[in-house]
Amino acid sequence: MARPSSILIEDAVVVTMDPRRRVIEGGSILVEDDRIAEIRGPAGGRRRKAEQRISAKGMAVIPGLIDTHLHLAQSLLRGCADDLPLVEWLRERVWPIQGCFTEEDGRVSAELSMLEMIRSGTTSFAGVDVVSRYGFDGIARSVVNAGMRGALAKTIMDSPGYGRKGSIMPAGLVEEKEACVREARSMVKKWNGIKGGLVRTWLAPRSLGGCSRELYEEVADLAEEQKTRVTMHLAEVKEDVRYAKQNFGMTPFEFIEKVGLAGPGSLFAHMVWLTDGDIEKVAETKANVAHCPSSNLKLASGIPKIPELLEAGANVGLGCDGAPCNNSYDMIREMKIAAVIQKGRLLDPQTMPATAVLEMATVRGAKAMGMGSEIGSIEVGKKADLVLINLKKPHLTPFREIVSNIVYSAMGSDVDTVMVDGRLLLRHGKALTLDEGKIVGEAQRRQDELISRSGVRA
Ligand SMILES: [Zn+2]
Repeated sequence: MARPSSILIEDAVVVTMDPRRRVIEGGSILVEDDRIAEIRGPAGGRRRKAEQRISAKGMAVIPGLIDTHLHLAQSLLRGCADDLPLVEWLRERVWPIQGCFTEEDGRVSAELSMLEMIRSGTTSFAGVDVVSRYGFDGIARSVVNAGMRGALAKTIMDSPGYGRKGSIMPAGLVEEKEACVREARSMVKKWNGIKGGLVRTWLAPRSLGGCSRELYEEVADLAEEQKTRVTMHLAEVKEDVRYAKQNFGMTPFEFIEKVGLAGPGSLFAHMVWLTDGDIEKVAETKANVAHCPSSNLKLASGIPKIPELLEAGANVGLGCDGAPCNNSYDMIREMKIAAVIQKGRLLDPQTMPATAVLEMATVRGAKAMGMGSEIGSIEVGKKADLVLINLKKPHLTPFREIVSNIVYSAMGSDVDTVMVDGRLLLRHGKALTLDEGKIVGEAQRRQDELISRSGVRA
C-alpha cells in the first residue's frame, strides 16, 4: 500500500515519552514520509497542509510499542503446551511440534504473530530463535509485507542439549555448527538493514547448553565483524545457574561476560536468577535485558529483580516471549503484569510506577534494540512509529493520569490505528497490510496438521 507523503494527526492526547515525558492535550503530529516532522499543542498556529488528515479526538497517541523478546514461530503453538515446567514444556510439547514445522508453517506463524502485535499496538520487535527449518527468507519477506520493524535473530548452536542431562532436542531442530554459522552470515548479508532498516538480522546462540565455549567466542567475533547484535535466553530458570556452575564454575552472566558477549550490543531475555554481583555487572557492561513477566510467571521460572536492575543503572525492555508461555503477544497487557508483579514481590506499591513500565515498552526497548535515536518516543526527526488508542471506552473513563490509564486499564483491543515508518498498518481496528481472515483460518488448519504430524497429545 502506498504511503502518503504527509499525514497530520490532530486533536490527540500525545504521550511523547520525550526526555521531559511531556503529555500534550489537544496536540497534533505532522508526519512527512517516514519521520515525525512537527509536534504542536492546541495553540499551534495556522492549519497545516497534509495529504491525509486523521482526527484523533478522544484518542491518545503513544510511541509504537517495542517487544524486545518474542518467538514468531510459536503462535501456531497457542494452547498446546500449558501448565508444564520449562524443561518438560520444551521437551514434550514445544520442540516436538516445532521440529515438524515446514517453511510455510514458519511464515504463517510469523504472520499470525505480527497480526496480533499490530492489532495491540506493537510496531517493533526482536524475534528470537529463527531456526533454518522455519525458513528465514520467508519470515523476513513476511516482515517486509506486514510493514513492521523487526529484528530476526538466527539461531546458532553446536549441541542438541539443554541444561539437564538427557534434555536433547528432536532431530528436526538440530543444526550443524558450520551450516548455521554460514546461514547466519548469508542472512545478515541478504537482509540486514533492508527497506530503510525495517528488517535487521541478529545472532542468537541457542541456550547455555546449546553452544560450546568456542562457539560463543566465535559468535562474539562474528557479531563484531558483521556489526550486528546478539540476543539469547539467559538465567531463565534455576537449572541454568546449576548448569553454569557445574560446567563453567561461574554464574550464567559471568560466563557470558567471559566469552565476550556482555556489552551494549547484547540483549538477554529473562535474567531471573541473577546474583547481586551479576546485577552490577549487567549495568557495568551496558548489556540489555528483555523482561518477560507473563512467561516467567506461567512457566514458574521466578520473578526477576527488575527494580534492582533499573536502580543499578541497567537498561531493561519488555517482551511477550511466545504463545505457549504467555499466551499472547499483547504488550499492553504485558505492561500491567510487569508493574503489578514487582509490587507484590517487594510488598511495595510504589515500585514500578506506570511511567517506568511504559518506558520499558518504549524508550528503553528502543535502546535495547540499538535504535534509541530512531524510535521509542514521539520527537521531531524520529521515525513515525505511532499508535492511537481509543479512550472512549468505559474502562478508560475518566482519565486524569493518561499513562496510568494506558498501563493499568487499557487492553490491546483498544488500539485503533497503527503507523510504522509513516505507513498505516491498522486503521479503525482493521489490518491494512495482512489478510486477517486468511491468516486466522490457515493458522487453525496448520496447528491441527502439526499436532497430528508430531504425535504430541495436546
Ligand atoms: Zn523466549
